[in-house]
Amino acid sequence: AVWVSEIMLQQTQVATVIDYYNRWMQKWPTLQALAAASLEEVNELWAGLGYYSRGKRLQEAARKVVSELAGRMPRTAEELQKLLPGVGRYTAGAIASISYGQATGVVDGNVIRVLCRLRCIGADSGSPAVLAQLWDMANVLVDRSRPGDFNQALMELGATVCVPKAPLCEECPVKQHCHARRRRLLGSCPTVPDVEDCGKHLAWGRLCYSSVYGPTVTFALVFAGVGGCPLCPPATEPWDSSLGVTNFPRKAAKKQPRVAWTATCVLEHRGCRGAPRFLIVQRPSSGLLAGLWEFPSLPLALGLQEEKQREALADHLRAWTGRPVAAGGLRYVGEVIHIFSHIHQTYVVYSLPVDEDVTLDPALSPWRWVTEEEFHASAVSTAMKKV
Ligand code: SF4
Repeated sequence: AVWVSEIMLQQTQVATVIDYYNRWMQKWPTLQALAAASLEEVNELWAGLGYYSRGKRLQEAARKVVSELAGRMPRTAEELQKLLPGVGRYTAGAIASISYGQATGVVDGNVIRVLCRLRCIGADSGSPAVLAQLWDMANVLVDRSRPGDFNQALMELGATVCVPKAPLCEECPVKQHCHARRRRLLGSCPTVPDVEDCGKHLAWGRLCYSSVYGPTVTFALVFAGVGGCPLCPPATEPWDSSLGVTNFPRKAAKKQPRVAWTATCVLEHRGCRGAPRFLIVQRPSSGLLAGLWEFPSLPLALGLQEEKQREALADHLRAWTGRPVAAGGLRYVGEVIHIFSHIHQTYVVYSLPVDEDVTLDPALSPWRWVTEEEFHASAVSTAMKKV
């Protein structure tokens, strides 16, 4: 249960996850039950939750535990991460500490924010040096007797008190230890100490280790904006007093998502009782939205004119169905925009009424006709539901 919830909660809010989690645990209450499920069933239940490889890997991992590990879950963070597909360092730490009581820390987005503020860590919080330091801190800080509770409390502190925009510092249970708060209370910056005094010639690792445990050294580093220190704010981005504790953490600018265009065709026929049915095809078993179903689609070159889009889509459908498809017969319906984590995707939607006997070459892709109700119960992405 902890494992399933941790995987579902990656990149997804609790409110969204609850319903999926309850249905999942009801359907597959044990590892054995999950291992016996088909990928199609997993994708159907996961439909709409996003980041579909998570469900797939959860099921692969369950199969591995049942078939290769004699049904016994690995019980340490190191083994969990090493042996189970889809289990990264955070998830491994969470399962090991919450389920098995291992005294091991966790670092997620909330923990990053809390620890960076506690110790005025102002370098890019996604950089390897900062992350390594945060993991070390989390492993040192974790309560030996109640590691699961401690880790959950630390994450909850970040989620409810040390929040991104307006943290509730005066209500914070660790405010006495917080260097960012102390820095805010001190107000303007005192005389900047010479970086040489901070021990530039010491190994950075030793300096940074000191910054975790020694307030004097931390302040020397923070005020100096020490060039080259992998934990300090860059000298070009000094403390901004209007931001207070939210000077920390700092992140490198996000990469702009890639822009992509796809032509999608809703092929529709009306059966003998008039209820419309739609043709859906299955995506490849790897890559984006692996194994999910969609309306026949074709990636488009950026900036392609509408006329050319129609021709390309008609060619594509012709190859698939083995029968003539006139570009002029495709009716433009509209555009649907969907933001994946790294892709700004626009679907240009066309529709085409067809006869019932249209078939596709199964060698190209599995396909089937579905009613609207069946479509919504199928393993289809949120983007396709918008289409
Ligand atoms: Fe976060 Fe403020 Fe608490 Fe520091 S005192 S940990 S900045 S809420």
